[in-house]
Amino acid sequence: MQASHVRHARCLRCGAEQPAAPLAELCTRCAPATGESGADSPDADPAILDVVYDYDAARPALLTAIAPSGPPSARRADADVGLFRWRALLPVDTVPPLPPTGDTPLLAAERLATRLGLGALHLKDETRNPTRCLKDRATAVAIARARAAGATDVYCASAGNAAISLAGYAAYAGLGCHVYVPHDASRTRLAWLEQFGADVHVSRGSYDDAFAEAAEAGARHGWYNRNCAYNPYLVEGKKTVAFEIAEQLDWQVPDVVAAPVGDGCTLGAIGKGFRELRALGLIDRLPRLVGAQAAALQPLVRRWRGEPPAPESGATRAASIKVRHPRNALRLLAELDAAGGALVAVEEEAIEAARRALGREAGVVAEFTSAAALAALERWAAERARAGERGLRAVVVVTGGRPDEL
Ligand SMILES: *Cc1c(COP(=O)(O)O)cnc(C)c1O
Ligand SMILES: [Zn+2]
Repeated sequence: MQASHVRHARCLRCGAEQPAAPLAELCTRCAPATGESGADSPDADPAILDVVYDYDAARPALLTAIAPSGPPSARRADADVGLFRWRALLPVDTVPPLPPTGDTPLLAAERLATRLGLGALHLKDETRNPTRCLKDRATAVAIARARAAGATDVYCASAGNAAISLAGYAAYAGLGCHVYVPHDASRTRLAWLEQFGADVHVSRGSYDDAFAEAAEAGARHGWYNRNCAYNPYLVEGKKTVAFEIAEQLDWQVPDVVAAPVGDGCTLGAIGKGFRELRALGLIDRLPRLVGAQAAALQPLVRRWRGEPPAPESGATRAASIKVRHPRNALRLLAELDAAGGALVAVEEEAIEAARRALGREAGVVAEFTSAAALAALERWAAERARAGERGLRAVVVVTGGRPDEL
């Protein structure tokens, strides 16, 4: 198998280029040496790195990966299945046995498209991943790298889905798994963690508190870090959802791709994936990006609009994007600059309506958070229609399909 084509890492905060280190690290030039969270204060952007490849060298291998014939078989090497098809642009040298991840369906939602006045609407159904969430793409890369680094234990902080994903994959791979979740993690999420036998730490505080607690424990024990808003290699896994969308649309780039936004890693990764395809000449333009936040907690919407932070209740059922101090804002804002688009805040009622619509008009069960992307797209497309732009071809990434109990 060919080695990875990673060339170096570049700091999203100060721009410094540096060797891509084997373990997850922040910028060696501008990250403070104090504590693994790497932020000077909760409001400061951590000095997260971005992985840069030798695209000329990666191109031939990547082209052979596109559209392999036939369904995955249990006998096919793991390196040829799902997201590892794209390993020429992934930071992995060796793919260990893993639950098959990615290659999820792209569903044409014609009833929804018609009602919303869109030219086309496709749902990228990430609920079909092994633990029913897009997070599995990052976890697959994390486990491959943790194994390569000889780690015995992995950890993360999570509103629930990243923890469940990590717990499932760690169970499969036989790694110890330590997860830090907020006080209000739902019973559904805790039950999944129990199912996978994870070492669960329920914080007395929010996701932001769980993040700090995880960082402290992880650094103390030397566990492998699966936090996308810290470990630069993980968004690389997430970006493959963009590769698949482009491939499934026969390289006809949609006008817009919408996803929910918490820390900003997921939509930032999607933006990166499309930019890389353009750099390789596989597509000729970028889709605009629409990111959804809940109206009750919308720090990135405010920042994108150039508004100062405001006190916010945080009272939202969108548990997976309930993030008061987003840690990958720089990445997301850079991708939004490159691609255009918007960050859109949506009320609870609009999210609930979108959740019902996904079920009743497309047969897709989405978690509440994921429905926010459809609600945001609907609002944004209506605005574009008022500006005279009609017939938009849209993709909504249905990021997760594990409804929390009400
Ligand atoms: C984590 C998550 C998101 C948001 O991803 P960020 O990288 O935090 O922006 C969206 N939807 C679901 C279902 C998630 O689990
Ligand atoms: Zn830096």
